Amino acid sequence: MDFRRQLPSVDQLLHRDDLISLQKEYGHDLVVLATQSVLDQIRQDAEAEQKILQGIDFPDLVQKCLLEWTSPTLVPVINASGVILHTNLGRAPLSAASVMAIQRAAHEYCTVEYDLSSGRRGSRTIHTADLLRRLTGAEDAVVVNNNAASVLLVLTALARRKQVAISRSQLVEIGGGFRIPEVLMQSGAHLMEIGTTNRVHLDDYLQALENGASIILHVHSSNFKVIGFTAEPDKSDLVALAHEKKALYIDDLGSGALLDTRRFGMTAEPMVQDAIRSGADIVCFSGDKLLGGPQAGIILGRKDLLVKIKKHPLYRALRADKICLAGLSATLLHYLKNEAETCIPVWRMIAEPVEEIRKRAKSWQDFLHLGELLESTSTVGGGSLPGETLPTVVLAIAVKSPERLLKKLRSAHTPVIARIENDQVVLDPRTVFPEQETQLLTTIKLLLETN
Ligand SMILES: *Cc1c(COP(=O)(O)O)cnc(C)c1O
Repeated sequence: MDFRRQLPSVDQLLHRDDLISLQKEYGHDLVVLATQSVLDQIRQDAEAEQKILQGIDFPDLVQKCLLEWTSPTLVPVINASGVILHTNLGRAPLSAASVMAIQRAAHEYCTVEYDLSSGRRGSRTIHTADLLRRLTGAEDAVVVNNNAASVLLVLTALARRKQVAISRSQLVEIGGGFRIPEVLMQSGAHLMEIGTTNRVHLDDYLQALENGASIILHVHSSNFKVIGFTAEPDKSDLVALAHEKKALYIDDLGSGALLDTRRFGMTAEPMVQDAIRSGADIVCFSGDKLLGGPQAGIILGRKDLLVKIKKHPLYRALRADKICLAGLSATLLHYLKNEAETCIPVWRMIAEPVEEIRKRAKSWQDFLHLGELLESTSTVGGGSLPGETLPTVVLAIAVKSPERLLKKLRSAHTPVIARIENDQVVLDPRTVFPEQETQLLTTIKLLLETN
């Protein structure tokens, strides 16, 4: 017997009322493809089981198929993990002003490379250069796609065929396959490893410079810590040595901070202003780590070097787009107006007092009538302040299978990302926006009721 005969044709199905309305919603062509795909699947299943499948609801299957094909994979989530700069969750959430600036730049025409006074072509670097100069004291600035792009561009434009001295303790892998020795090789620079894994001295750098190195590259150990018997020369001594020997000093700060992390009870993350003040020729850092802006790579430094960088063909390939520039300038403006701590979400989360967090966790507990409040820690994450934590209070929920509850939370309509601590599911208010709380709590309530 031929199962195929028993099945309706694509054409017959397309004329049914429910499929006609699907065509209005999704367009004719996509519905045809989905219908074909559903019929193929049914045919395969029927052949495998050697029988006709009864009671098939075709429109329902077609609709399910269309939903699967068209639902976005990039969806908003509630981050209750307590990791402020969660790289897998998109790092820094943006300030309201940044989002507004991005929305306008994206939706309307804008002066990304247009000079209104002359009516001629303008420069895309002006939108952020002045702000960055004022904030950091650098001579000039340029913005590229991300900080990995900064490092690649800076080295390609300035270090090609040159010897670059770098300490063995700084030949790091950042994550996502970004390894300093490989980037150096890609840029055409020659790597000159100096020092040891744990210790490097001023004299090691001196030797390198006398043996032909013309650039010193300093890379911040963003995501790990070397403790114990360690040594590294003072940055200003190193810069002075480089300049005495007519060499360049390039500083990859990784995260870089414009505010002092020590004010929030953490160790010092290198500050961009300090790196410029120390005399570094080039300083680069990320836009979406501690700066709290959109994904970007920011390159600061000497005007003559920035000219070379901007002229390099790679700059054209790596430059930031209007959306990034709009969001970044709005974020930088918060620093200039001294409102970063209240307006930039990353800093607002870092600055939130633990007593405030305790109150929020308590209100969650009161609403849900379950869980207990526990002292715990939030982390900054995103390749900054490794091992550093902020005291927090979490709502801990004890269930038979914490893994199963985590999974259920992830599959909620607005997914919730939580973590497990001592066999309990814990939710950290620090990274949850107050305006997400109602949604978070109703989601949890519903999940636990149907558990
Ligand atoms: C994070 C980091 C990078 C890469 O920056 P992205 O903006 O993620 O591309 C490069 N160098 C260091 C030291 C970093 O910490």
